[in-house]
This record gives sequence, structure tokens and C-alpha cells, in this order.
Amino acid sequence: MLSYQHAYHAGNFADVHKHITLYAILDHLLRKKTAITYIDTHAGRGHYPLDAPESQRLKEHQGGVIKLWQPKARLHDELNRDWLAALALSQPATSKSSQGALTHYPGSPWWFSHALRAQDALTLFELHPGEHRHLGEQRLPANAKRIHADGLEGLRKRLPVATPRLCVLIDPSYERKSEYQEVAETVAFTLAKARHAVVAIWYPLLPAGHHRTLLEALTASGISKIWRSELIQRPPGTQSHGMYASGMLVINPPWGLDERLASAMTELTPLLGDASRYEAEWLVGEG
Ligand code: SAM
Repeated sequence: MLSYQHAYHAGNFADVHKHITLYAILDHLLRKKTAITYIDTHAGRGHYPLDAPESQRLKEHQGGVIKLWQPKARLHDELNRDWLAALALSQPATSKSSQGALTHYPGSPWWFSHALRAQDALTLFELHPGEHRHLGEQRLPANAKRIHADGLEGLRKRLPVATPRLCVLIDPSYERKSEYQEVAETVAFTLAKARHAVVAIWYPLLPAGHHRTLLEALTASGISKIWRSELIQRPPGTQSHGMYASGMLVINPPWGLDERLASAMTELTPLLGDASRYEAEWLVGEG
């Protein structure tokens, strides 16, 4: 069953949380010259026109990235400003979006490609045939490879990698409940093969609380240095269905990531809504 399409949600508050966190991780990794392998296990289409019927149906970007893009938002935090400057670069050349409206929202393949240097490698997995076809239409650097296959299995098969450093994003659609457990098992396998890998995992917080399976399995896995952050859009329990918060786990987070994100989110949360809140803590410390 593959019915999820990210185009309905692109640029929402969860994408803002996920992609600012990813941007901050990549920004830190780029401080050293040593080569990095990036693996994006669930890539999606890569780029989302915000006037497409899918984006227009739910207009989730209006409650996410558009709140930050408006001139009146006037962000001062360095990470937020850098992220918005990168976002401006992601716009098609024909659009004057750095001064005007944001016309497109870039997905994780773009954020990784933006950071990609000649010595690095990027592998993007996407299983949905239609989404993979759209991804194939994106202009990406020559060292970015697109693979139409299961991302968790693809990640396992690629370990250990040839480069000294590895950075992975795991961002499933969680259409099956078993995916939470499968993600935890794949992460444990990854860390066993690449102890210093930086692994970022996105998860939704839903009233059913399925994300607890992932958090509990990782806590019990013996992996240390698991940092957790959550961007809460509305208090849990106020609606019987739908995502109320976005969660990110980062294993082996770069030094200072927590402070940078805390500062960025302090500025962003009031813009994202009155009930918007940010929380972060170590799920598992250094051990
Ligand atoms: N990472 C993307 C971004 O940040 O722009 C969004 C990814 S979206 C949440 C999840 C994607 O995973 C969907 O495009 C879906 O088709 C794809 N997918 C679902 N199951 C998959 C699997 N087993 N392996 C690879 N991709 C899968």
C-alpha cells in the first residue's frame, strides 16, 4: 500500500521542523573537508510547486513555511536567516521569489543536493513509482543517485559506506504501523555498521501514539546519544485524529545542534501559531 503523497503536505509545519533541523546538521558537517555519504531513505518528489492542485487542496504550507516567508516575519536568528536564504535559492530561476511570493517548496533531495560537494555522494530512495518518476525529472548533481527501491533495505545493503562520514535521513510516511519498529531495527543495524553515523529520523505525533514504539525500541537498543526534538502545533488531545506535532530524532547530533535549534525555534514558534511549542531533550545520553 503506497497511497501517501507528500505534495499534499509540502511546506507544512512538520517540513519546516524537519528541514531546518536537516539544514543545521548539514551546515555543521560541511565544516570539515572529509567526504560524506548521504542517504535519504524516503526521498519523495524533491520539489513541490505550491500552486499545484495537491498543495492547494489542504494548503498546509500556509500554516508552515509561508508564515516564515512573509516580509513581516523579519527573522533575526542566524540559522533561520540562513535557511530562508537557502530556500530563496531553491526557487526556479523564472520566479522572483527572493523578493516576492514563495512559489515552490524544496524537499529533502534538494536540501541534500544543496550541501553536496564533489567529494560527497548522495543516494535517494523512493519506492512509489509516480513519486520516483517526478524525482527523475529534477535537476540534481551528478553525484546524486536516484533509486526506485525500498529505502530501509537499500540503506542496509549500502553499509558500510566507502567515505569516512555517513549522514542518513529516514522520513517514512508511516502508512503501516509496523514501520515504527522497522525503522528502529534499521537504525540499530546502521549504528552497528557505522558507529559515528549521524542519523536523523522524522516521526509524526498522532493521538494513537504509535511513535512510542519507535522511541521505546531505540531507547532499549543500546544506542547512545539520541537527541529528540518536537514541534507541537496544538495540544495533544484537542482532536481525535490528525498529526498534532512533528518529531525528530538525531543520533550522534553535531555539537551545538540543540542550542542552534532552540534559538531558531524560539523565534519561529510564535509565528507558527498561538499553541505552537518546541521541546527538546536527550532521549538517550552519552552513556
Ligand atoms: N523526505 C521527503 C522530504 O523531506 O521532502 C518526504 C518524504 S515523504 C514523508 C515519504 C516518502 O516515502 C513518500 O514519497 C513515499 O512514496 C515514500 N515511501 C514509502 N514507503 C517507502 C519505502 N519503503 N522506501 C522508499 N520510499 C518509500
